[in-house]
Amino acid sequence: MAFWQNQMPAGMCLRSNWGASHIADPRQELTLDAYCRQKGNHIAKPIPLDRFVDYGLWYQSRAVRDLEKRGVLKIDLDARGFKVTLTDDEEFMAKRVVVATGINNFAHRPAQFAGISSELASHTSEHNDLRKFKGRRMAIIGAGQSALESAALFKEAGIDVEVIARDQALNWVGLHPRLHHLGVVSKMLYSTRDVGPAGISRLVAMPHLFRRFPRGFQDRTAYRAIRPAGAGWLKPRLKGVPITLGRTVVSATITGSHLLLKLDDGTERLVDHALLATGFRVDVTKYPFLSQSLVKRLNVENGYPVLKRGLESSIPGLHFAGKPAAWSFGPLLGFVSGTEFAGNELVHSIAGRNGNS
Ligand SMILES: Cc1cc2nc3c(=O)[nH]c(=O)nc-3n(C[C@H](O)[C@H](O)[C@H](O)COP(=O)(O)OP(=O)(O)OC[C@H]3O[C@@H](n4cnc5c(N)ncnc54)[C@H](O)[C@@H]3O)c2cc1C
Repeated sequence: MAFWQNQMPAGMCLRSNWGASHIADPRQELTLDAYCRQKGNHIAKPIPLDRFVDYGLWYQSRAVRDLEKRGVLKIDLDARGFKVTLTDDEEFMAKRVVVATGINNFAHRPAQFAGISSELASHTSEHNDLRKFKGRRMAIIGAGQSALESAALFKEAGIDVEVIARDQALNWVGLHPRLHHLGVVSKMLYSTRDVGPAGISRLVAMPHLFRRFPRGFQDRTAYRAIRPAGAGWLKPRLKGVPITLGRTVVSATITGSHLLLKLDDGTERLVDHALLATGFRVDVTKYPFLSQSLVKRLNVENGYPVLKRGLESSIPGLHFAGKPAAWSFGPLLGFVSGTEFAGNELVHSIAGRNGNS
Protein backbone atom coordinates (compact mmCIF):
# COMPACT_ATOMS: atom_id res chain seq x y z
CA MET A 1 0.00 0.00 0.00
CA ALA A 2 3.04 2.28 0.01
CA PHE A 3 2.12 4.02 -3.24
CA TRP A 4 -1.43 4.72 -2.11
CA GLN A 5 -0.16 6.01 1.23
CA ASN A 6 2.75 8.15 0.13
CA GLN A 7 2.16 9.16 -3.46
CA MET A 8 -1.48 10.07 -3.71
CA PRO A 9 -2.82 13.28 -2.16
CA ALA A 10 -4.74 13.34 1.10
CA GLY A 11 -8.40 14.09 0.40
CA MET A 12 -8.42 12.13 -2.85
CA CYS A 13 -11.15 9.58 -3.60
CA LEU A 14 -11.01 6.47 -5.75
CA ARG A 15 -12.44 6.85 -9.24
CA SER A 16 -13.35 3.16 -9.33
CA ASN A 17 -16.75 2.31 -7.93
CA TRP A 18 -17.38 0.17 -4.87
CA GLY A 19 -17.83 -3.13 -6.72
CA ALA A 20 -14.51 -2.66 -8.52
CA SER A 21 -12.50 -1.84 -5.38
CA HIS A 22 -12.46 -5.17 -3.55
CA ILE A 23 -8.98 -6.68 -3.56
CA ALA A 24 -9.53 -10.20 -4.88
CA ASP A 25 -10.04 -12.96 -2.35
CA PRO A 26 -11.24 -16.43 -3.40
CA ARG A 27 -13.27 -16.86 -0.20
CA GLN A 28 -14.84 -13.39 -0.36
CA GLU A 29 -13.89 -12.86 3.27
CA LEU A 30 -11.70 -9.83 2.64
CA THR A 31 -14.01 -7.63 0.57
CA LEU A 32 -14.71 -3.97 1.32
CA ASP A 33 -18.08 -5.07 2.70
CA ALA A 34 -16.40 -7.55 5.07
CA TYR A 35 -14.00 -4.79 6.16
CA CYS A 36 -16.91 -2.43 6.92
CA ARG A 37 -18.80 -5.14 8.83
CA GLN A 38 -15.76 -6.02 10.89
CA LYS A 39 -14.79 -2.41 11.60
CA GLY A 40 -18.43 -1.61 12.31
CA ASN A 41 -18.43 1.56 10.27
CA HIS A 42 -19.45 2.93 6.95
CA ILE A 43 -17.33 4.09 3.99
CA ALA A 44 -18.61 6.97 1.89
CA LYS A 45 -18.90 6.73 -1.90
CA PRO A 46 -16.73 7.66 -3.75
CA ILE A 47 -14.29 5.79 -1.51
CA PRO A 48 -11.90 8.17 0.31
CA LEU A 49 -8.20 7.35 -0.12
CA ASP A 50 -7.48 7.07 3.62
CA ARG A 51 -10.24 4.49 4.06
CA PHE A 52 -9.01 2.49 1.08
CA VAL A 53 -5.49 2.48 2.53
CA ASP A 54 -6.89 1.26 5.85
CA TYR A 55 -8.83 -1.46 4.00
CA GLY A 56 -5.65 -2.51 2.13
CA LEU A 57 -3.66 -2.74 5.36
CA TRP A 58 -6.51 -4.71 7.00
CA TYR A 59 -6.51 -7.07 4.01
CA GLN A 60 -2.72 -7.38 4.17
CA SER A 61 -2.73 -8.18 7.91
CA ARG A 62 -5.10 -11.09 7.26
CA ALA A 63 -3.87 -12.42 3.95
CA VAL A 64 -0.10 -11.94 4.26
CA ARG A 65 0.75 -12.17 7.94
CA ASP A 66 4.45 -12.79 7.34
CA LEU A 67 5.08 -9.81 5.05
CA GLU A 68 8.78 -8.86 4.97
CA LYS A 69 9.00 -5.07 5.03
CA ARG A 70 12.29 -4.87 3.20
CA GLY A 71 13.28 -3.47 -0.19
CA VAL A 72 14.59 -5.51 -3.10
CA LEU A 73 17.85 -4.03 -4.38
CA LYS A 74 18.64 -6.42 -7.19
CA ILE A 75 17.35 -9.45 -9.04
CA ASP A 76 19.82 -11.41 -11.15
CA LEU A 77 19.74 -14.74 -12.90
CA ASP A 78 22.35 -17.47 -12.73
CA ALA A 79 22.40 -21.22 -13.37
CA ARG A 80 20.72 -21.92 -9.99
CA GLY A 81 17.80 -19.52 -10.52
CA PHE A 82 17.04 -15.93 -9.47
CA LYS A 83 19.43 -14.32 -7.03
CA VAL A 84 17.54 -11.74 -4.97
CA THR A 85 19.51 -9.13 -3.02
CA LEU A 86 17.69 -7.08 -0.39
CA THR A 87 18.55 -3.51 0.56
CA ASP A 88 20.11 -4.76 3.81
CA ASP A 89 22.44 -6.95 1.65
CA GLU A 90 20.79 -10.26 2.53
CA GLU A 91 20.74 -12.58 -0.49
CA PHE A 92 18.66 -15.62 -1.32
CA MET A 93 17.82 -17.77 -4.33
CA ALA A 94 14.31 -18.12 -5.76
CA LYS A 95 12.90 -20.42 -8.43
CA ARG A 96 10.34 -17.79 -9.35
CA VAL A 97 9.90 -14.06 -8.97
CA VAL A 98 6.63 -12.17 -9.31
CA VAL A 99 7.32 -8.48 -9.91
CA ALA A 100 4.33 -6.49 -8.57
CA THR A 101 6.06 -3.21 -7.84
CA GLY A 102 3.56 -0.85 -9.45
CA ILE A 103 4.09 2.30 -11.52
CA ASN A 104 6.19 4.50 -9.28
CA ASN A 105 9.25 4.21 -11.52
CA PHE A 106 7.29 5.30 -14.59
CA ALA A 107 6.11 8.83 -13.72
CA HIS A 108 6.11 10.77 -17.01
CA ARG A 109 7.75 14.20 -17.03
CA PRO A 110 7.32 16.02 -20.38
CA ALA A 111 10.57 17.08 -22.08
CA GLN A 112 9.69 20.79 -21.68
CA PHE A 113 10.19 20.38 -17.93
CA ALA A 114 13.54 18.58 -18.13
CA GLY A 115 16.10 20.34 -15.99
CA ILE A 116 13.51 22.23 -13.90
CA SER A 117 13.92 21.42 -10.21
CA SER A 118 11.07 19.73 -8.36
CA GLU A 119 10.75 22.94 -6.32
CA LEU A 120 9.22 24.53 -9.46
CA ALA A 121 7.78 21.57 -11.38
CA SER A 122 6.86 18.24 -9.83
CA HIS A 123 4.91 15.14 -10.80
CA THR A 124 1.66 14.39 -8.98
CA SER A 125 3.17 11.19 -7.60
CA GLU A 126 5.68 13.26 -5.60
CA HIS A 127 3.02 14.52 -3.17
CA ASN A 128 0.74 13.16 -0.52
CA ASP A 129 -0.42 16.53 0.73
CA LEU A 130 -1.26 19.34 -1.69
CA ARG A 131 -1.93 21.87 1.09
CA LYS A 132 1.79 22.59 1.16
CA PHE A 133 1.23 24.74 -1.95
CA LYS A 134 -0.89 27.22 0.02
CA GLY A 135 -0.19 30.78 -1.07
CA ARG A 136 1.42 29.76 -4.37
CA ARG A 137 0.08 30.26 -7.90
CA MET A 138 -0.21 26.81 -9.49
CA ALA A 139 -0.57 25.45 -13.01
CA ILE A 140 -1.67 21.86 -13.44
CA ILE A 141 -0.65 20.17 -16.69
CA GLY A 142 -3.04 17.42 -17.79
CA ALA A 143 -6.76 16.65 -17.84
CA GLY A 144 -7.11 13.20 -16.35
CA GLN A 145 -8.40 12.22 -12.92
CA SER A 146 -5.28 13.27 -11.02
CA ALA A 147 -5.18 16.67 -12.78
CA LEU A 148 -8.84 17.41 -12.17
CA GLU A 149 -8.91 16.06 -8.63
CA SER A 150 -5.76 18.00 -7.71
CA ALA A 151 -7.40 21.14 -9.14
CA ALA A 152 -10.50 20.54 -7.01
CA LEU A 153 -8.35 20.01 -3.91
CA PHE A 154 -6.40 23.22 -4.65
CA LYS A 155 -9.58 25.22 -5.13
CA GLU A 156 -11.06 23.87 -1.89
CA ALA A 157 -7.85 24.78 -0.04
CA GLY A 158 -8.05 28.33 -1.45
CA ILE A 159 -5.03 27.83 -3.71
CA ASP A 160 -4.91 29.75 -6.99
CA VAL A 161 -4.83 27.22 -9.86
CA GLU A 162 -5.26 26.90 -13.63
CA VAL A 163 -5.51 23.60 -15.52
CA ILE A 164 -3.76 23.48 -18.91
CA ALA A 165 -4.13 20.49 -21.22
CA ARG A 166 -3.73 19.61 -24.87
CA ASP A 167 -7.06 17.71 -24.91
CA GLN A 168 -9.73 19.55 -26.89
CA ALA A 169 -12.45 18.72 -24.35
CA LEU A 170 -12.72 17.17 -20.91
CA ASN A 171 -13.87 13.55 -20.71
CA TRP A 172 -15.99 12.36 -17.82
CA VAL A 173 -16.86 8.94 -16.49
CA GLY A 174 -19.99 8.01 -14.56
CA LEU A 175 -22.11 10.90 -15.86
CA HIS A 176 -24.98 8.58 -16.81
CA PRO A 177 -25.74 6.55 -13.67
CA ARG A 178 -29.13 5.62 -15.20
CA LEU A 179 -27.33 3.31 -17.64
CA HIS A 180 -26.16 1.24 -14.65
CA HIS A 181 -29.70 0.64 -13.41
CA LEU A 182 -31.32 -0.94 -16.46
CA GLY A 183 -31.15 -4.54 -15.24
CA VAL A 184 -30.15 -7.03 -17.96
CA VAL A 185 -29.27 -4.25 -20.41
CA SER A 186 -26.79 -2.73 -17.94
CA LYS A 187 -25.27 -6.16 -17.32
CA MET A 188 -24.77 -6.55 -21.07
CA LEU A 189 -23.10 -3.15 -21.33
CA TYR A 190 -21.02 -2.96 -18.16
CA SER A 191 -18.85 -5.40 -16.27
CA THR A 192 -18.58 -5.03 -12.49
CA ARG A 193 -14.84 -4.55 -13.12
CA ASP A 194 -15.63 -0.91 -14.01
CA VAL A 195 -12.86 -0.35 -16.57
CA GLY A 196 -14.06 1.40 -19.73
CA PRO A 197 -17.33 2.69 -21.19
CA ALA A 198 -20.42 0.70 -22.25
CA GLY A 199 -19.53 -2.38 -24.27
CA ILE A 200 -15.78 -1.94 -23.96
CA SER A 201 -16.18 -2.54 -20.22
CA ARG A 202 -17.42 -6.09 -21.00
CA LEU A 203 -14.61 -6.89 -23.42
CA VAL A 204 -11.84 -5.55 -21.19
CA ALA A 205 -13.16 -7.71 -18.32
CA MET A 206 -12.24 -10.85 -20.33
CA PRO A 207 -8.46 -10.60 -20.75
CA HIS A 208 -8.09 -13.95 -22.53
CA LEU A 209 -10.61 -12.89 -25.18
CA PHE A 210 -9.22 -9.35 -25.35
CA ARG A 211 -5.71 -10.57 -26.17
CA ARG A 212 -6.97 -12.57 -29.18
CA PHE A 213 -7.89 -9.39 -31.08
CA PRO A 214 -5.44 -7.77 -33.54
CA ARG A 215 -2.85 -5.53 -31.86
CA GLY A 216 -4.21 -2.30 -33.39
CA PHE A 217 -7.71 -3.04 -32.08
CA GLN A 218 -6.35 -3.89 -28.62
CA ASP A 219 -4.39 -0.63 -28.48
CA ARG A 220 -7.31 1.53 -29.63
CA THR A 221 -9.73 -0.19 -27.27
CA ALA A 222 -7.33 0.03 -24.33
CA TYR A 223 -6.88 3.77 -24.96
CA ARG A 224 -10.65 4.26 -25.12
CA ALA A 225 -11.02 2.37 -21.84
CA ILE A 226 -8.50 4.41 -19.89
CA ARG A 227 -8.12 7.72 -21.76
CA PRO A 228 -7.68 10.82 -19.57
CA ALA A 229 -11.03 11.46 -17.89
CA GLY A 230 -12.40 12.74 -14.61
CA ALA A 231 -15.03 11.14 -12.41
CA GLY A 232 -18.42 12.82 -12.89
CA TRP A 233 -18.54 13.75 -9.17
CA LEU A 234 -15.61 16.13 -9.73
CA LYS A 235 -17.56 18.35 -12.13
CA PRO A 236 -19.35 20.52 -9.54
CA ARG A 237 -16.17 20.74 -7.45
CA LEU A 238 -14.35 22.37 -10.37
CA LYS A 239 -16.77 25.29 -10.78
CA GLY A 240 -14.75 28.48 -11.11
CA VAL A 241 -11.41 26.78 -11.83
CA PRO A 242 -9.89 28.17 -15.05
CA ILE A 243 -9.34 25.30 -17.49
CA THR A 244 -7.43 25.97 -20.74
CA LEU A 245 -7.92 23.16 -23.25
CA GLY A 246 -6.42 22.39 -26.66
CA ARG A 247 -3.11 23.98 -25.63
CA THR A 248 0.36 22.56 -25.17
CA VAL A 249 3.12 24.00 -23.01
CA VAL A 250 5.95 24.54 -25.50
CA SER A 251 8.53 25.76 -22.99
CA ALA A 252 9.10 26.23 -19.28
CA THR A 253 11.75 28.73 -18.17
CA ILE A 254 12.93 29.64 -14.70
CA THR A 255 12.40 33.37 -14.08
CA GLY A 256 13.72 34.32 -10.65
CA SER A 257 11.80 32.17 -8.23
CA HIS A 258 8.97 31.61 -10.72
CA LEU A 259 8.30 29.46 -13.75
CA LEU A 260 7.33 31.02 -17.08
CA LEU A 261 5.19 28.71 -19.20
CA LYS A 262 4.79 29.47 -22.92
CA LEU A 263 1.76 27.92 -24.60
CA ASP A 264 1.38 27.08 -28.30
CA ASP A 265 -1.11 29.95 -28.78
CA GLY A 266 1.65 32.41 -27.88
CA THR A 267 0.25 33.20 -24.42
CA GLU A 268 2.32 32.95 -21.24
CA ARG A 269 1.70 32.07 -17.62
CA LEU A 270 3.96 33.09 -14.74
CA VAL A 271 3.44 30.56 -11.93
CA ASP A 272 5.09 29.51 -8.70
CA HIS A 273 4.83 25.83 -9.50
CA ALA A 274 3.69 23.48 -12.28
CA LEU A 275 2.11 20.24 -11.11
CA LEU A 276 2.64 17.62 -13.80
CA ALA A 277 -0.44 15.41 -13.87
CA THR A 278 1.02 13.78 -16.93
CA GLY A 279 0.58 10.16 -16.00
CA PHE A 280 2.83 7.14 -16.12
CA ARG A 281 4.59 5.41 -19.03
CA VAL A 282 5.41 1.81 -18.31
CA ASP A 283 8.99 0.83 -19.07
CA VAL A 284 10.03 -2.20 -17.06
CA THR A 285 13.64 -1.72 -18.10
CA LYS A 286 13.53 1.24 -15.67
CA TYR A 287 12.88 -0.98 -12.66
CA PRO A 288 16.20 -0.32 -10.91
CA PHE A 289 16.31 -3.77 -9.28
CA LEU A 290 16.30 -5.77 -12.54
CA SER A 291 19.91 -6.54 -13.52
CA GLN A 292 21.14 -5.47 -16.95
CA SER A 293 21.68 -9.08 -18.01
CA LEU A 294 18.10 -9.93 -17.03
CA VAL A 295 16.71 -6.91 -18.89
CA LYS A 296 18.68 -7.88 -22.01
CA ARG A 297 16.99 -11.28 -22.07
CA LEU A 298 13.51 -9.86 -21.50
CA ASN A 299 11.17 -9.57 -24.48
CA VAL A 300 9.76 -6.05 -24.14
CA GLU A 301 7.30 -4.21 -26.43
CA ASN A 302 6.91 -0.49 -25.99
CA GLY A 303 8.24 -0.76 -22.43
CA TYR A 304 5.88 -3.60 -21.46
CA PRO A 305 7.08 -7.19 -20.93
CA VAL A 306 5.50 -9.62 -23.39
CA LEU A 307 3.72 -12.15 -21.19
CA LYS A 308 2.15 -15.54 -21.72
CA ARG A 309 -0.30 -17.48 -19.54
CA GLY A 310 0.49 -17.14 -15.87
CA LEU A 311 1.73 -13.58 -16.51
CA GLU A 312 5.10 -15.18 -17.26
CA SER A 313 7.69 -13.24 -19.23
CA SER A 314 10.13 -14.50 -21.86
CA ILE A 315 12.38 -15.49 -18.92
CA PRO A 316 10.86 -18.66 -17.43
CA GLY A 317 9.96 -18.11 -13.78
CA LEU A 318 9.84 -14.31 -14.01
CA HIS A 319 6.26 -12.99 -13.81
CA PHE A 320 4.85 -9.45 -13.89
CA ALA A 321 1.57 -8.37 -12.25
CA GLY A 322 -0.22 -5.01 -12.26
CA LYS A 323 0.05 -2.34 -14.94
CA PRO A 324 3.10 -3.90 -16.72
CA ALA A 325 0.86 -6.89 -17.59
CA ALA A 326 -1.55 -4.60 -19.46
CA TRP A 327 0.12 -4.82 -22.88
CA SER A 328 -0.41 -8.59 -22.91
CA PHE A 329 -3.72 -8.88 -21.04
CA GLY A 330 -5.40 -5.49 -21.46
CA PRO A 331 -6.08 -2.46 -19.27
CA LEU A 332 -7.95 -4.40 -16.56
CA LEU A 333 -4.58 -5.50 -15.18
CA GLY A 334 -3.75 -1.94 -14.09
CA PHE A 335 -6.67 -1.79 -11.64
CA VAL A 336 -7.68 -3.25 -8.30
CA SER A 337 -10.49 -5.08 -10.10
CA GLY A 338 -7.84 -6.90 -12.15
CA THR A 339 -6.40 -8.59 -9.05
CA GLU A 340 -8.76 -11.57 -9.33
CA PHE A 341 -7.63 -12.35 -12.87
CA ALA A 342 -3.96 -11.79 -12.02
CA GLY A 343 -4.15 -13.86 -8.84
CA ASN A 344 -5.84 -16.77 -10.61
CA GLU A 345 -3.36 -16.70 -13.48
CA LEU A 346 -0.38 -16.75 -11.14
CA VAL A 347 -1.74 -19.44 -8.85
CA HIS A 348 -2.84 -21.76 -11.64
CA SER A 349 0.36 -21.45 -13.57
CA ILE A 350 2.69 -21.76 -10.60
CA ALA A 351 0.78 -24.34 -8.54
CA GLY A 352 -0.13 -26.25 -11.72
CA ARG A 353 3.46 -26.64 -12.79
CA ASN A 354 4.82 -27.30 -9.32
CA GLY A 355 2.15 -29.77 -8.28
CA ASN A 356 0.47 -27.38 -5.84
CA SER A 357 3.69 -26.59 -4.00
C1 LIG B 1 -3.80 8.94 -8.80
C2 LIG B 1 -4.15 7.49 -9.00
C3 LIG B 1 -5.44 7.05 -8.76
C4 LIG B 1 -5.78 5.72 -8.94
N1 LIG B 1 -7.07 5.33 -8.69
C5 LIG B 1 -7.42 4.04 -8.88
C6 LIG B 1 -8.74 3.61 -8.64
O1 LIG B 1 -9.64 4.38 -8.30
N2 LIG B 1 -9.02 2.29 -8.81
C7 LIG B 1 -8.06 1.39 -9.21
O2 LIG B 1 -8.38 0.21 -9.33
N3 LIG B 1 -6.80 1.79 -9.46
C8 LIG B 1 -6.46 3.07 -9.31
N4 LIG B 1 -5.17 3.47 -9.57
C9 LIG B 1 -4.21 2.50 -10.05
C10 LIG B 1 -3.50 1.88 -8.86
O3 LIG B 1 -2.17 2.35 -8.85
C11 LIG B 1 -3.53 0.42 -9.01
O4 LIG B 1 -4.84 -0.04 -9.06
C12 LIG B 1 -2.87 -0.33 -7.84
O5 LIG B 1 -2.22 0.49 -6.91
C13 LIG B 1 -1.85 -1.24 -8.44
O6 LIG B 1 -1.39 -2.06 -7.43
P1 LIG B 1 0.03 -2.69 -7.50
O7 LIG B 1 0.08 -3.66 -6.38
O8 LIG B 1 0.31 -3.17 -8.88
O9 LIG B 1 1.04 -1.47 -7.25
P2 LIG B 1 1.23 -0.54 -5.97
O10 LIG B 1 -0.04 -0.34 -5.24
O11 LIG B 1 1.98 0.65 -6.44
O12 LIG B 1 2.19 -1.41 -5.04
C14 LIG B 1 3.56 -1.63 -5.36
C15 LIG B 1 4.24 -2.10 -4.11
O13 LIG B 1 5.56 -2.54 -4.43
C16 LIG B 1 6.46 -2.05 -3.46
N5 LIG B 1 7.81 -1.94 -4.06
C17 LIG B 1 8.18 -1.21 -5.14
N6 LIG B 1 9.50 -1.39 -5.39
C18 LIG B 1 9.97 -2.26 -4.46
C19 LIG B 1 11.24 -2.83 -4.19
N7 LIG B 1 12.31 -2.57 -4.93
N8 LIG B 1 11.34 -3.68 -3.14
C20 LIG B 1 10.27 -3.98 -2.37
N9 LIG B 1 9.03 -3.47 -2.58
C21 LIG B 1 8.88 -2.61 -3.61
C22 LIG B 1 5.89 -0.69 -3.07
O14 LIG B 1 6.39 -0.30 -1.83
C23 LIG B 1 4.40 -0.99 -3.05
O15 LIG B 1 4.00 -1.48 -1.81
C24 LIG B 1 -4.80 4.79 -9.39
C25 LIG B 1 -3.48 5.23 -9.63
C26 LIG B 1 -3.16 6.57 -9.45
C27 LIG B 1 -1.76 7.00 -9.73
